[in-house]
Amino acid sequence: MEKNNLYITELIDKCTNCGNCRIVCPVFKTTGEEIYSTRGRINLVKGYLSGDLKTSKELREKLFVCLNCRQCLEFCPADVEYSLIIKNAKSRISARNKIFDIKRSILEGIFSYKTSSSDLFFMLLRKCGHFLYKNNSLNYFGKIIFRFAGINSAARLPEIPLNNFFNMGIRHETKNDRGLRIALFTGCGGKYLYPECADNFINIMRSQGIEILIPKNQVCCGNPLSYKGLLKSAGKNLNANIKAFNTLLDVKYIVSLCPEAGNLFKELDRTDPKLSLRLPVSNWIELVNELQIELAPRYDNSVIFHSCPGCGQTELYSNFVKSLYSDYTKVPDFTSDFCGCTELLDRSNYEIRRKIARSFYEKNALEKTDYIVCSSFECIEHLNEFFTGSNLNVRAIHFFDALKSKN
Ligand code: SF4
Ligand code: SF4
Repeated sequence: MEKNNLYITELIDKCTNCGNCRIVCPVFKTTGEEIYSTRGRINLVKGYLSGDLKTSKELREKLFVCLNCRQCLEFCPADVEYSLIIKNAKSRISARNKIFDIKRSILEGIFSYKTSSSDLFFMLLRKCGHFLYKNNSLNYFGKIIFRFAGINSAARLPEIPLNNFFNMGIRHETKNDRGLRIALFTGCGGKYLYPECADNFINIMRSQGIEILIPKNQVCCGNPLSYKGLLKSAGKNLNANIKAFNTLLDVKYIVSLCPEAGNLFKELDRTDPKLSLRLPVSNWIELVNELQIELAPRYDNSVIFHSCPGCGQTELYSNFVKSLYSDYTKVPDFTSDFCGCTELLDRSNYEIRRKIARSFYEKNALEKTDYIVCSSFECIEHLNEFFTGSNLNVRAIHFFDALKSKN
């Protein structure tokens, strides 16, 4: 048996088939079918590796429908590393799928390990927004492009601002009153989709006397690629980020605005010991807690705060929100329900994602809310796609669009 097969088989062999993971799997909860559960997918991969199952459209659909929400990991008594199993299986299937090559090229262009490629693709995506739609719906040409790229025709392209984060210019004086220098990982979200949010983070941190370095040659963390099983490409992104960050001197850690990026860095680090970031990666909330940075809500509007259970930091976020409103008589609601996101741009899970987003909206009474505040750029993107596509008024924003310095 080839080495990689052996590695995945060893991971699978830890599974005792107890079925605990099914309790939390949102895809199983939505479909009610074993074959769509975590355990069902593990057994499919097992059958595939043993040669009992061949690569097929059905097999691909059942594996790619997994939303990568990671909730099952918490519930597994045998510590089965499902996330690595599914990504490796997707990687093998994608490598055999010729049609997927076209989509792969597009994905590798957008979430590239070269900044020039991502800059170009995001600029094209922004222009396509006008070109592919008519009266808010995809035009004929748009439908062909979406079909070609394997994206559901009801999906919506994100609204991409004219200037990315690095084109906005340097507007803030750098101070280092606290003797602390950190590096910022903006991710695609902070760079292309929500540059004002990254800018606000820097503004606040610099006002607190923290020096922030922001390497211009940093690239996408690789999450959107690894979700698709494009592990080699995601590894190239990690390598590019290693080059960008490992040369920084006197930096305590890298801070990521998005928790998913930090999770991926740690996972890839373990998959291939040659790929190693010298600096630890920390989530912004850990930095804020460690330095006791005093923040305040930015808006008076009605808000609800959110952290998906798969990010693994729900308690941190919920405590943070309580302290944020310690001077107020009422603390806004906090939800750790799964919003249906994490796996965008795939046709196989589009309907399931929307069903979960709909029930999330109803369960949390979001019709009475102006903003839902979240830390994951992908969740924000997914929720806003659902809200605008369904003509709902609530909007998802990042914490650093909802916060300001206390003083
Ligand atoms: S990652 Fe989420 S969607 Fe995928 S199997 Fe686990 S619980 Fe289910
Ligand atoms: S909870 Fe863990 S051991 Fe049990 S079926 Fe799921 S993956 Fe296997």
